[in-house]
Amino acid sequence: MQLKVLKDIMAANTATAEANRARLDANGILGVNIMASPGSGKTTFILGTIDSLGQDARVGVIEGDLASSVDAEKVAQKNVPVVQINTGGGCHLDANQINAGLDNLPLEALDIILIENVGNLVCPSEFKLGEHKRVVILSVPEGDDKPYKYPGMFATADIIIISKIDILPYFDFDLENFKKAVSGLNPGVLIFPLSARTGEGFDVWTDWLKSQALRQGK
Ligand code: MG
Ligand code: ZN
Repeated sequence: MQLKVLKDIMAANTATAEANRARLDANGILGVNIMASPGSGKTTFILGTIDSLGQDARVGVIEGDLASSVDAEKVAQKNVPVVQINTGGGCHLDANQINAGLDNLPLEALDIILIENVGNLVCPSEFKLGEHKRVVILSVPEGDDKPYKYPGMFATADIIIISKIDILPYFDFDLENFKKAVSGLNPGVLIFPLSARTGEGFDVWTDWLKSQALRQGK
């Protein structure tokens, strides 16, 4: 019985995710679901992405958080449309919440929507939101062995961002080990190392993002 309930919940979520995606497609918007553990720099990554894109793309943001709106306030300072979703303790975003978020964004005036998922490397990967691309951020202090510990997250990513590379000299993070771990789970996944502090690597990431938005474009 328990299993049946869970299956029904997942099926309903997937159906809503498909509707969200159709809505993004109809508006020529690229949807990006950004997942990571707490403290890996999701919000900072979003702020850096907005800066790096500049006038080249119109960005909207959906901010998922357990509580508070501090991240949404930071994003709003960049003068981009942002919607805050508080999950009230829920450990992931679901497609219904994204549907409500889309209701509150000016879809006709956007090229890209960045969705900051709740900080958690486990269940966010199980819930489709309607996104076109899945980004997983891993920060250098978390260690190069994380793909072995959270295979579901790394196996379903389209892009892996290695954040905080400016502190690589101070940590035993072996980039080659990391790539080896990832390639076993997810051959062909794109890996972009970058640093929000120095700005290194952001141009490579946002050039790729722009190319994807153009393909999706209005
Ligand atoms: Mg955040
Ligand atoms: Zn969860």
